[in-house]
Amino acid sequence: AKVAGKNCYRFYSRAMDQAVERRVRMEQELRGAWERGELSVAYQPVYRLRDNRLVGAEALLRWHHPEQGMVSPAVFIDVAEQSGLIETIGPQVLRVACRDAMRWQNEFPTVEPLFVSVNVSPRQLRSGELPGLVEACLRETGLPASQLHVELTETAVIGDELHASTLLSRLRSIGVKVWLDDFGTGFSGLSHLRRVPVDGVKIDRSFIADVLRDPDDLALTTAIIAMAHSLGITVVAEGVEKEGQYAILRERGCDLAQGYWLGHPSSAQDFARLLI
Ligand code: C2E
Ligand code: CA
Ligand code: CA
Ligand code: CA
Repeated sequence: AKVAGKNCYRFYSRAMDQAVERRVRMEQELRGAWERGELSVAYQPVYRLRDNRLVGAEALLRWHHPEQGMVSPAVFIDVAEQSGLIETIGPQVLRVACRDAMRWQNEFPTVEPLFVSVNVSPRQLRSGELPGLVEACLRETGLPASQLHVELTETAVIGDELHASTLLSRLRSIGVKVWLDDFGTGFSGLSHLRRVPVDGVKIDRSFIADVLRDPDDLALTTAIIAMAHSLGITVVAEGVEKEGQYAILRERGCDLAQGYWLGHPSSAQDFARLLI
């Protein structure tokens, strides 16, 4: 039994070594990926349910790996976060997103100004450099602060809520909107809303996925909308893949929505075609 245990241990440690090795390799490949032109920003349209109008876009990072093709951000963002690379990549995404949003506005001045929403990782918030960086990007690109949103997950504000709310208040004081992402998936979403100042919540797509079939998910979604509205904050539903989901969210008073049924993430140029 002892021998088997030892083999077992060796097997697991080998598998672990391989996982570590893969991460280390990915980290090396990710380093310099921006300079090599492998990273880009895609935009997914966000619509207002009340009048079905396009009102903004979420910026989503894309990595085109030279051999592996598209690598999911769900995989590489984590590596970037753990290794600290996000502290150089994050600011690039912010800069590009502000620049692209400003371009749309210059090229299509008749269109109601659109917002661009940028994901900010826990590490980026913790570093404390976010407000300064945001101010610099707005100044450099000329994008009005009211047209920039930042999205944070609960994990970004957990731990040091005082630090987080100080930074977020500074962003909000210049007019940038703050969204709580993946709302409903954490355990303490409600208590955060009491202590951390946000302009809105994004209902996680796991709720939206079953909203037509599962009465509990519909009840939770409806409750989140009602609660957010009573606090004076906006609600976005993500992962809308069917017309029926859109219809029921609209009926329940949800403010904004995004999802494959409304539009997939696409390049800045392809996104601009929606504005014509
Ligand atoms: P997220 O912030 O929740 O972004 C929404 C994700 O849902 C995106 O995945 C988007 O492509 C996908 N999605 C949109 N509509 C639908 C739909 O109708 N159905 C389904 N099943 N999925 C939909 P993506 O682009 O793979 O990004 C995954 C995650 O990676 C993001 O989740 C976000 O947490 C992170 N991420 C992406 N870009 C950045 C970035 O620039 N910075 C940081 N820190 N994180 C990022
Ligand atoms: Ca997001
Ligand atoms: Ca989300
Ligand atoms: Ca369910």
